[in-house]
This record gives sequence, C-alpha cells and structure tokens, in this order.
Amino acid sequence: MAHDPVDLRSDTVTRPTPEMRKAIAEAVVGDDVFEDDPTVKELEELAAEITGQEAALFVASGTMGNEIAILSHTQRGDEAVVDIDSHIYNYETAGPAVLSGVQLSPLKTARGWFAIEQLEEAHRPDDVHEPVTRLICLENTHNRKGGRVIPIEAMRKIRDFAKARDLKIHLDGARIFNASVASGVDVKEYCSLCDSTMFCLSKGLGAPIGSMLVGSCDFIRLARRYRKMLGGGMRQVGIIAAAGVYALKHNIERLAEDHRRARKLAEALSDMPGIRLEPEEIETNIVVIDVADSGLTVDDVVLLLERNGVLVVPFGRTTVRAVTHLDVDDEDIERAVAVFREVFSQAVG
Ligand SMILES: *Cc1c(COP(=O)(O)O)cnc(C)c1O
Repeated sequence: MAHDPVDLRSDTVTRPTPEMRKAIAEAVVGDDVFEDDPTVKELEELAAEITGQEAALFVASGTMGNEIAILSHTQRGDEAVVDIDSHIYNYETAGPAVLSGVQLSPLKTARGWFAIEQLEEAHRPDDVHEPVTRLICLENTHNRKGGRVIPIEAMRKIRDFAKARDLKIHLDGARIFNASVASGVDVKEYCSLCDSTMFCLSKGLGAPIGSMLVGSCDFIRLARRYRKMLGGGMRQVGIIAAAGVYALKHNIERLAEDHRRARKLAEALSDMPGIRLEPEEIETNIVVIDVADSGLTVDDVVLLLERNGVLVVPFGRTTVRAVTHLDVDDEDIERAVAVFREVFSQAVG
C-alpha cells in the first residue's frame, strides 16, 4: 500500500489531531476586537503565564508578530540590528523598511548570535547624519543556523549591553519552546531578558494557525493597536485560539521527541556517501544536510527524494533542510533514512 509522503519540509505542516479539533469545535467565542472572546483571553493569559510576562497578544502569524514588535519599539528612521541569516532580514518581505520605516543593520555571526564587540561597532553615535540605533533582534532557536539554541549566557551579555545603551531587544522566538526543551532553561528566563518575544503556535506546538507576542502591558497595548492597523483584528477567533490553548497544554514537553528523531536522522545520514553533516551539531528539530559532495544539485536531491516519498526543502546552494514535528514518528524516520540511502548510494556509488 502506498504511504503518505514523509513530510520533513517544515514543522508548519502538522494537521490538528482529533483532540485538538474537538477543542476547536467546543470553543466558547465572542468578538475579540471588543476583547470579548473568552478563549482568546484564556490563550493570552496562559501565554503570559508560561513566559512569565505581564501580557500577551494573539496574532495571525509569526511574521505579523515580529513586524508588530518592530513597529512598537521604533520610530521611522531608526535602525535595528539583526543577524544576516535571520528570518526578519530574509523572509519578511522587507517589512521593517516598508511598515516601520526602519533600516536593518545585518551582522554576520558565526553561530547566530552577536559578540558584544560587534554590537559595539554597530551601535551608532548620537550624530545628526546617522540613523538612531534603537533595537536588537535575536532569533532562538535559529532557523538558518540549523535550529541552534542561543545560550542563555550569550543572551544575558547582549541584554546587559542593550540596557547600558538604552536599546530594546525583540526575540524572534518562533521556536523558543524548542530552545527551552533542548537546553533545560525555562522559557521565562529567555523572555525576561527581552522587551518582547514572539513565539509560534503553528510550528512544533502543532496548532493550525497563529503566534503570540508577549511583553509588558504597555508594549501589548501598543501592539494591539498596530495589530488592528495591519488588519489583524479578528472577531470570533476563539475558534483558532482554542487550538493554541490545547497546544500549550499538551505539546511542549513532547518537543523532546522531535529533537531525538532529528538526531537519529542526522546520525544515519552522516554515514552516507555524498552527505556532509555533523550529528553533534543538531540541537533541536532542524537538520541541515550538505549534499555538495554527492555530485547532485539541491534541486535533484529534492526531486529524487520526493519521487521516493520523502519531502525536504532547498536551503541554500548546496544544502537541503529536514524538520521533525508532531506528524513524524519513528517509522517515518526509518523510511526517510532508507530513501536517503537509496538515493545517495545510487548517485555516489
Ligand atoms: C516561521 C518563522 C517565523 C514566521 O512565522 P510565520 O508564521 O510563517 O509568519 C519567524 N521567525 C522564524 C525564525 C521562523 O522560523
């Protein structure tokens, strides 16, 4: 019998389980623009509690959350420091320039976070010619750096620097729960070092839609206004917030299983001809696979794997990305390994 493909393209591809669908069907709702939706309120209170922040706001997507945070922290003509491989710099369609009128200062980093000397160099003097440095954006875990966790000590140093210079910090924590589960550091600790944090319900946590912004009451009040401006004021949105509540109650600890499976996949792949990969580097649920030595192009690899029922995405000139998630089990990993072995032994052998 033909299987469904093993879908390792992203942790966004999960579909709600029957239990989550039941929570959606039974959600009590109201008009959330009037702040009348009890399920949205429950979700926002739960998110604030879990992250140790004063308040939270349900937003349509991670991108919307990041863009609202930048709008809330900056003025037109300000500058925000970002990692050159960050989601904000690469995958948000120049939102900071268009929506906030903010210039991004992209810095190259070895592992996804900034050295203090780099920040010192990037920080602008108070000079009439120059933009005002206002914001530092961090990403944890770091997607393009292969799901790497930013160590809490590194974040503390950046926080100290930001405090001394009166800069704000926004954390793109699309996968902050992956960071927390992998490192054993409470999500509250990461968030306590930042002025705002965005995290996604629609990735590893397995909800179909939505992300959260968390921060101070003042920040969230302003963020709510910008959400409305961007067309993100939604009405009986408890229908989807119910899935978020379910995800926060049931799907955090199990992220460890995704990490274990990603490591298992990486270990098997690292032994195959034509693949370059260090399994010890896999800290969470993202596996970046360098296929340069195989003689195959990235597009060839994606196509050959797809023909054999395994889906990955191109992730650079010589790399593809595989991501584990709620809808990938041990058997799927075994199937994926067998398909990779066949494709690469034929190409290289
Ligand atoms: C997925 C992702 C986002 C944005 O999420 P969307 O819901 O797809 O807009 C932001 N940052 C990082 C690091 C991500 O991986």
